Amino acid sequence: MSDITKLTISQTLEGLKNKQFSATELTKAYLQDMEAKRNLNAYVLETPEQALAQAKVADTNYANGTPRTLEGIPLGIKDIFCTKDVRTTACSHILDGFVPQYESTVTSKLFNDGAICLGKLNMDEFAMGGSNENSFYGPVVNPWHEERNLVPGGSSGGSAAAVAANICAAATGTDTGGSIRQPAAFCGVTGIKPTYGRCSRYGIMAFASSLDQAGPIAKDVKDCAILLQSMSGYDPKDSTSVNKEVPNFTSFIGQSVKGLKIGIPAEYRPQGLNQEIADYWDKGIEILKQAGAEIVNISLPNTKYALAAYYIIAPAEASSNLARYDGARYGLRIDGKNLDEMYTNSRTSGFGAEVKRRIMIGTYVLSAGYYDAYYLKAQKVRRLIQNDFVEAFKKCDIILTPTSPLAAFPIGDKTMRESPINMWLNDVFTVSVNLAGLPGMSLPIGLSKDGLPFGLQLIGRSFDEETIFKTAAIIEQEAKFERLK
Ligand code: GLN
Repeated sequence: MSDITKLTISQTLEGLKNKQFSATELTKAYLQDMEAKRNLNAYVLETPEQALAQAKVADTNYANGTPRTLEGIPLGIKDIFCTKDVRTTACSHILDGFVPQYESTVTSKLFNDGAICLGKLNMDEFAMGGSNENSFYGPVVNPWHEERNLVPGGSSGGSAAAVAANICAAATGTDTGGSIRQPAAFCGVTGIKPTYGRCSRYGIMAFASSLDQAGPIAKDVKDCAILLQSMSGYDPKDSTSVNKEVPNFTSFIGQSVKGLKIGIPAEYRPQGLNQEIADYWDKGIEILKQAGAEIVNISLPNTKYALAAYYIIAPAEASSNLARYDGARYGLRIDGKNLDEMYTNSRTSGFGAEVKRRIMIGTYVLSAGYYDAYYLKAQKVRRLIQNDFVEAFKKCDIILTPTSPLAAFPIGDKTMRESPINMWLNDVFTVSVNLAGLPGMSLPIGLSKDGLPFGLQLIGRSFDEETIFKTAAIIEQEAKFERLK
């Protein structure tokens, strides 16, 4: 494995500027390391030709002294982002061979800023899952202790694994209920789900439109800030994107947290919380205290209803969003005697078990007679959860919690397989943030006794990613977490 692929984005930009290596050399190093690490199954498509063509442009721009902000930075792209002329499947069989005619806003912003596309990254089918085991292309192996065959988390499992294994400088992810933060935690890397509306959803395959947000997964806090800067901004093509100025995120890194009020929600420390995770949470609290922040106890009383509300609202929206995959318009078609049979055949063989489960739940909770009992109630609970945060943010400026109640578990784990609910329970600390539309970051805090990364989560006020960056940078600096080399 090459040395230059271990650098962060900020270090890589320095190296490129100072002509220590060219974008072409860098890209070739990544392509070689990707090949060496194919056993991880992190990429579902490698795009070496496109990458080398982009690298050539980058080298010309450096030679002319006109580099753009991300000039020559090789990225991996989650396979849920439509990439023009490059196969995009959301890791579903039903999108076999689908090649978009257009580029998602987020990826076009990144490429317009000079980033390079190394390929498309594995994920749970349509982003439904928390272990990357629901991909049509098979599971991803967590690069920590490869021999133990652990999951990387999900749904952005390919993204987090690729960043941790240094087979991309950073990656894009999406997060509907934790899919950036939980895999970042499992793989010992950093990821931020920005405020709902911060990044355009145009060209990202929709799972649950009122919850989905794009964000970066990267090697450190600063790299997340650099990437989010490029990804953010108003887009007239997405009616839920918000027309708000994008602050200079990196400028908040290194700022003091003196006097900042850190909220610690009692409900996130349930009885039976893994002791190692609880201890690392305390370590995070201690770091911020030492840095001059004030710790305040807060309550988010409706947390206990968050999973139930999420697993009604997300499937409801998914069942509607996935109706478009009918065998007629995109990807896979399995013919039948008539139109109805063609729909049935295509959807039956095209969707995996988890996606079918969610379509059925979603259709059920939206159907006449059950709509009031389930869907409307869940929407009311969503409002209560949002109100909990409004109340909490009267007492504090930012909230600190663990990211996940577990560390990475083995692929095919029996308990997780027993019932889908066991898998869903892992999202307990992340889903509320999406229900409330708030920004949330996961950053690594340390390793368990058996050597697996744990993450801490920072939750900010709406459109206050700045406070997250400044607080995360302090924790990162003191935690001294060692990335995989
Ligand atoms: N694990 C959650 C789910 O399965 C979250 C997925 C996501 O954020 N895309 O729905």
